[in-house]
Amino acid sequence: MTSPRPCPARVGSHPDLRDLRGAALTIGKTFTFEAAHRLNGLPDGHKCGRRHGHSYQVTVELTSTELVGPGFITDFGDLAPFAAYLAEHFDHCDLNEVLTVEPTSELLALHLARWFLDNVQPGIPGRLAAVTVSETSKTWARCTLGNAP
Ligand SMILES: [Zn+2]
Repeated sequence: MTSPRPCPARVGSHPDLRDLRGAALTIGKTFTFEAAHRLNGLPDGHKCGRRHGHSYQVTVELTSTELVGPGFITDFGDLAPFAAYLAEHFDHCDLNEVLTVEPTSELLALHLARWFLDNVQPGIPGRLAAVTVSETSKTWARCTLGNAP
């Protein structure tokens, strides 16, 4: 009977992103909620004109060139206010009643990016890079944020 192979000696050192010119790290977290909507302004007979529901997935991506704490861009736990906003305002709701704009994935991604920038971004170290909204496993819309502060 042989002993298991020992783990190798520790490798690497604390990485410094400045060593990798132009490098940035990105993290993402996906949130889900269920909601109904219908889209106005479509041709007669378009299926999206009928009220229907989706299991929405919303992914936020945060980027940074510097890490904080043990090596985080942002502690995922700091995104709890965003999860609470989705749960309170969108989950099991009619998006036509919640939003003042047409509830397309594109406009929902834009709205959620704006809300995140106003309500979550000021209290976290990472920078919001994108918000992606998926109504189905095969479709998505992404709002990509620029580099401006
Ligand atoms: Zn739909």
